[in-house]
Amino acid sequence: MGRHDRELAAGIDAVRAATRICRAVAQRLVTADKLEKKDQSPVTVADFASQAIVCQRLDRAFPGDSVVGEEDATELRGAAPPLRESVVRAVAEELGGDPGLAPVLSWIDRGAAHADGARFWTLDPIDGTKGFLRGEQYAVALALIEDGEVVVGLLGCPNLPDGAGGRGLLFSAVRGEGTRRHALWDPAPGEGKPVSVASLRRAAEARFCESVESAHSDQELSARIAALLGITAEPYRIDSQCKYAAVAEGDASIYLRLPTRRDYREKIWDHAAGMLVVEEAGGRVTDVEGAKLDFRRGRTLAANQGVVATCGPIHDEVVSAVKQVRGA
Ligand code: AMP
Ligand code: MG
Repeated sequence: MGRHDRELAAGIDAVRAATRICRAVAQRLVTADKLEKKDQSPVTVADFASQAIVCQRLDRAFPGDSVVGEEDATELRGAAPPLRESVVRAVAEELGGDPGLAPVLSWIDRGAAHADGARFWTLDPIDGTKGFLRGEQYAVALALIEDGEVVVGLLGCPNLPDGAGGRGLLFSAVRGEGTRRHALWDPAPGEGKPVSVASLRRAAEARFCESVESAHSDQELSARIAALLGITAEPYRIDSQCKYAAVAEGDASIYLRLPTRRDYREKIWDHAAGMLVVEEAGGRVTDVEGAKLDFRRGRTLAANQGVVATCGPIHDEVVSAVKQVRGA
């Protein structure tokens, strides 16, 4: 028995419910289901419904725990009624009954907690919203943080190829217990299979992954870093924390997230789950300076800039190339 077995089981249950909602919404996604947030990123019915179901499940399993999620219900309250109805309908389908609007809004708002307790969950209800809208990669990312350490990390990846001709993988990591990969849509999640990073000793042999969106990571800089490291493979561009999953599984050996703006601070829900998935698969994760990611600073990684994740043995070599190219 592991120390976080109950959290793992409840987290897996919540993420699987959220991915079922996302998949259902994706199947009927129309432009009316999209509104613009103040920061211009598209937010969909599925973002809200995914956050609602995860908070509902966590509330049931751990009523005292807080959840730091990307969304809150403020904009949804002011949105057009059809959009609100779509969110409620998406949640109702998963619950097998209509909960009504008020509970759905309050579940979503449960995820607006401050990131300052000794223990909290952090949730990205749809990481890679742009990938989701393009029908490409996205993830439901959920992590448990205790005393500043990520102790459980879960990535539901509905569109990742499962190796058997289908799509849909779930990655689960528990601090000290390794990373496992499960079939996402199976009626029961099962034990899953252990996942480990590629055994690579030279960065030159690596394939690196990065954002599809050039606004999220400096692709021109990553090309220069790759050249300096002697990497010849083309960059593997995929949305969301599926990049962490790719490194954990050895599909790629480096993930570079290079700041495009000096003042941008990474959000904790964009990295907590993915970081643990890579670390527990044997890899390493730091910021671009080689410092540990600090999850004690609230909703952002205020003490860090960018992210470098690798399969491990090449980490120092990669960070030193990143520093050299950024310094030039
Ligand atoms: P990705 O799919 O890896 O490109 O990352 C998607 C995430 O990028 C979203 O969840 C946003 O929180 C985050 N994001 C938005 N703007 C920026 C930015 N300027 N730099 C880095 N990340 C960003
Ligand atoms: Mg995100």
